Amino acid sequence: MLKRLEIAGFKSFAKKTVLDFSTAATAIVGPNGSGKSNVAEAFRFALGEQSMKSMRGKRAEDLIWGGSAMVPRANRAAVAIVFDNARRIFKLDFDEVVIERAVFRDGQSEYSLNGSRVRLRDIEELLAGANIGETGHHIISQGEADRILLASPRERREMLEDALGLAAYEFKKQEAARKLEKTEENIQQVNSLRRELAPHLRFLEKQVEKLERADALRAELVSSAQLYFALEDAYLEREKERAEKALARAREKLAEAEAEIARIADPQSADSETVRLTEALRNAERAVSERAKERAELSHQIGRLEGTLAEVKRRAQAAGREPYAKVPREELSALHEEVERQVAHAGEGAEGLKAALAAIRTMVATFFARHGTPSEDALSDDEGAALRLEAEREALAARVKQVAEELEAAESARARAREAMLAFEETGREVRRRILDLAQHKAHEESEVARQESRGRELALMQEELAREKGEVLAVAGSAALSYEPLTELPEEERRAQEDRHRALERMKIRLEEAGGTGEDIRTEFKETAERERFLANELDDLAKSAAGLAELIADLDAELAKSFTDGLAKVNASFAEYFALMFGGGGARLTMEEADEEREEDEDAEPAATAMGKPGIEISVNLPKKRVQSLMQLSGGERALTSIALIFAMSQVNPPPFLILDETDAALDEANSRRYGDMIENLARKSQLIVITHNRETMSRAGILYGVTMGSDGVSKLLSVKFEEAVQVAK
Ligand code: ATP
Repeated sequence: MLKRLEIAGFKSFAKKTVLDFSTAATAIVGPNGSGKSNVAEAFRFALGEQSMKSMRGKRAEDLIWGGSAMVPRANRAAVAIVFDNARRIFKLDFDEVVIERAVFRDGQSEYSLNGSRVRLRDIEELLAGANIGETGHHIISQGEADRILLASPRERREMLEDALGLAAYEFKKQEAARKLEKTEENIQQVNSLRRELAPHLRFLEKQVEKLERADALRAELVSSAQLYFALEDAYLEREKERAEKALARAREKLAEAEAEIARIADPQSADSETVRLTEALRNAERAVSERAKERAELSHQIGRLEGTLAEVKRRAQAAGREPYAKVPREELSALHEEVERQVAHAGEGAEGLKAALAAIRTMVATFFARHGTPSEDALSDDEGAALRLEAEREALAARVKQVAEELEAAESARARAREAMLAFEETGREVRRRILDLAQHKAHEESEVARQESRGRELALMQEELAREKGEVLAVAGSAALSYEPLTELPEEERRAQEDRHRALERMKIRLEEAGGTGEDIRTEFKETAERERFLANELDDLAKSAAGLAELIADLDAELAKSFTDGLAKVNASFAEYFALMFGGGGARLTMEEADEEREEDEDAEPAATAMGKPGIEISVNLPKKRVQSLMQLSGGERALTSIALIFAMSQVNPPPFLILDETDAALDEANSRRYGDMIENLARKSQLIVITHNRETMSRAGILYGVTMGSDGVSKLLSVKFEEAVQVAK
């Protein structure tokens, strides 16, 4: 298993030195101080020994070739152990495994595995897997054979666990424990993160709940607003239309009334009509009075004429004369008829009368011309005068008749004018009544116009107010509130219903305004925080699972370790008893587990090793043949060496390490025991490779290869392969 050891700059090995181990047992011989133990320490060093003391140094520098008068000091000590890994004693897929360590003057150590830099921990793990433990049970340093006897029960247990190859379990356990610790730290961290997150999350949750309530409120507001606005639009439209129509109608009526009033109450036309009628009446009255006067005058004239005529006639009669007695009757009658006719056909007025009179005079003159002017004889003056007067009277009578007719006509004209006047006055009264009516009507329409105009203004204000409200609702509830279908007809309801809606809308708006904006930030933050919380909870879950898994693994490992340890202990005990009896020619020895309470006692003063925590330590009890010695302290040096060799060999027997280095373990043995020791070496060498540093002939004789170590005046250890005979010589 061990192929070779390469030492360079380590302690007394200033130059590169290679030891080949091609046989089961190799002995290293040489005089005191030549550097043999340095070889054993080179193994310890390469395998990662951290204790300077166990390498007989104080500082790292002590491990590096310190220089001599002839050879200058080195800056680096390096040791490589080359293993044959054909049997895969190391769990690496290489046939050869090289473990190398180098140390520098500054104390830095470098480890490498097959040429690749690794950590110490990697080396330790690798070795634990190959039963090359940290406790160094396979490297027994010079004078340390009885180390196991001197060790505390706890240390013994560690060595024993190591020797039994349980270190790998322990490693696994430690690894698991470390992971568990880390996991628990993580759990704590996650828990504290969650605790930190919790109030914020609660706060956000509440905010989001509020926002959701606001959303519901907003949705309610939107639908309420849509209804309200649609109704209000329709209402205002209808009302405006109504008001406009009513206004137009009222204006029309007003205009009509005004026009009518203007028409019938025209003072000019009424005045002119009055003037006309009055004129007409006055004319008619004047005509009547003129005719009446004329008639009276004519009557007077006739009266006077008749008086005169009567006088004339009386005088003529008194003269006894008949006028025109000699004129034939027919002619007189003809004249009379002619005069009558003239009178009857006399023209109107005075002119007519004059013309008639002239005609009559002509007739009379003609009459006289034919019948001769009445002579004084024939016709007295009175007779002529009477004739004239009679003719005149006749004419006047005709005239009177005519005037009477004219008077009658004038009177009836006057009556008509009066009637017209009366009728006109009657009409005026009606007009005034009508105007009064119309004025009332007009006032009514004026007030109606004013009323409708004010309604129009009121509606315009309402429209403005509505627009403002729409703006407000838009601001708090978004455009959805304003996207609604216009209503085609208004429901039959009281205006109060819409006012109630308006109040409800106002209340909702206020509540929504109080609820604040849409809170996108808060929602996003809540979502992220909740996700983070979920993530943490999951992580916690995973961590808890992995912690549980690790705890289980640890428990399993503990159980396995305990069982393996108990089993191993029994085997070691069997072997120990056997070797002990062999070495002492009888007697017995055994390893026992400490009592639990003793262990507790020890806990108080001893510094417990982490690996052995809570586990009972190991006691050694011996039973020497023919002696009543029980305590280890009472054994002689040789007896102590024998006991520890028996134990070391027993442990190596039960679980053979790849190699075993024994540095002058045989120093205290007498000849008989040296032989037995030699036998045991040979026996052990079948399972583990042995490197023995010895001055003992017997031991040398059992080795396949012998190396001699010498040191010249330059202080450098030199190595040479020697034969058995030479070896005895070299050892001296
Ligand atoms: P013994 O048979 O007496 O046990 P040994 O052969 O085992 O002797 P070691 O103890 O291995 O001898 O060798 C010790 C020698 O190594 C000493 O001579 C010491 O001076 C030398 N040595 C130790 N450390 C260094 C170092 N850093 N540089 C040079 N020489 C060193």
